[in-house]
Amino acid sequence: MQKVLNYIGGELVPPSAQKWLEKPEPATAEPYAHVPDSDETDVRRAVEAAARAFPAWAATPASDRSRLLRRVAEAIRARLPEFARAESIDTGKPLSVASTVDIPRSILNFEFFADAATQFSSEAHATDSVALNYTLRSPLGVVGCISPWNLPLYLFTWKIAPALAMGNCVIGKPSEVTPMTAFLLSQVCRDAGLPPGVLNIVHGLGAKVGAPMSSHPEIKAISFTGSTRVGAEIARTAAPLFKKISLEMGGKNPNVIFADCDFDEALATTLRSSFANQGQICLCGPRIFVQAPIYERFKAALVERTRALKVGDPLEAGTDQGALVSQQHFDKVMSYIELAQKEGGKILTGGGRAKLAGRCRNGWFVEPTLVEGLGSECRTNQEEIFGPVATLTPFEKEEEVLAWANSTSYGLAASVWTKDLSRAHRFAAKLHSGIVWINCWMLRDLRTPFGGVKDSGVGREGGQEVLRFFTEPKNVCVKL
Ligand code: NAD
Repeated sequence: MQKVLNYIGGELVPPSAQKWLEKPEPATAEPYAHVPDSDETDVRRAVEAAARAFPAWAATPASDRSRLLRRVAEAIRARLPEFARAESIDTGKPLSVASTVDIPRSILNFEFFADAATQFSSEAHATDSVALNYTLRSPLGVVGCISPWNLPLYLFTWKIAPALAMGNCVIGKPSEVTPMTAFLLSQVCRDAGLPPGVLNIVHGLGAKVGAPMSSHPEIKAISFTGSTRVGAEIARTAAPLFKKISLEMGGKNPNVIFADCDFDEALATTLRSSFANQGQICLCGPRIFVQAPIYERFKAALVERTRALKVGDPLEAGTDQGALVSQQHFDKVMSYIELAQKEGGKILTGGGRAKLAGRCRNGWFVEPTLVEGLGSECRTNQEEIFGPVATLTPFEKEEEVLAWANSTSYGLAASVWTKDLSRAHRFAAKLHSGIVWINCWMLRDLRTPFGGVKDSGVGREGGQEVLRFFTEPKNVCVKL
């Protein structure tokens, strides 16, 4: 059994109560690691260490902070195969995905915000010839970063890197479901010479670690990515303490395909946006709307491509679809496949547990599943499933599909496929969504605002948005 440790005050330490959680491997359902079942005491110690480290870290020149973040990026790169393998085993995602998406992007997060630390600037406002205003931006102090299991290191570092770059000290709480790469990161940070206490990582359950973070008076901000339910809980706790909060939450994204699209590109990308990471990406587009003239052709082609996806051992080359992350999540996804049929949906392909032989025979594998025949208002099309399940719905008119696209309580991302430029812009402007992709999906530029509207989020990550989030502005007005 591997053992994960907390990272507090620069040291790798067991949880104070010496309690541990058992962590299974999704592909085999066998336990393979012990994870700290930390509690309030560990959070308190981490906050004390961070508060001690803060004055010196905040006073460290941006160029030095930048150099340290680059060193962390380099150290992850040097151990990329080990990180990728750990991520694959921990999550059930194909090793090919962890090696080409998760870990490279985590490295890039550190590099991007290492640069941002030295490029950041604040504003000045000349008030006619009467006064000059300038804005100072200081780090907040100790901040909390809470992340989910679907892209573990990728989303963890997407928060930690900008927080550190701006001079904050961080309490990081990775998902208890996928702790392993955060543990490797703590080793890397210690070895790279990050000063003790600047980054602290406390492992454990949301209720025992995340909740005390949200209510700790010394933690000035919480940056959270996860479910809408937990986001609401954090908001309730943090609001009366006047903490800054940034919440990246669930989604039920529409993928709208007009008849004049580039058929082959829309098809290939839809396959990815439906099933990448077993559909466990908040940006996936599980509601596929296809305009009537191409509906049957698109459906036939998508079903064929979906059937050809290889569900297999995540560690084997050639596997397209790995396991779902946990028994609990597997049960949830399977229950939605059942619900889709109860609601009158017809399974076009998939629809059951994927049975594998050998070491993966007990793993949590689900066949990539396509469903048709469901209205936009049914639960299958309204609630987040977060698995390899997508619905296909034909539409006739732009207004009709716009209403369907906007009909959920979520509003994270949307894809629109059309060669009609006016329609693309018109439609993008009317979508209730924080992110719109025209003729593409998940094409990322880290400078852009990232986040959702409605129940998908509060605030934005990325670029200047996150740098502003992790700093406190102070306006200084000088009378001339
Ligand atoms: P989750 O909300 O169950 O857990 C997320 C994190 O919050 C975990 O670290 C968990 O331990 C912690 N947590 C749980 N209870 C808590 C509490 N009471 N107080 C503080 N922290 C607590 O989410 P999940 O199941 O890990 O992840 C899947 C969800 O994340 C999906 O809904 C998905 O859409 C969402 N997600 C959103 C984005 C985005 O950018 N909007 C990105 C990825 C995932």
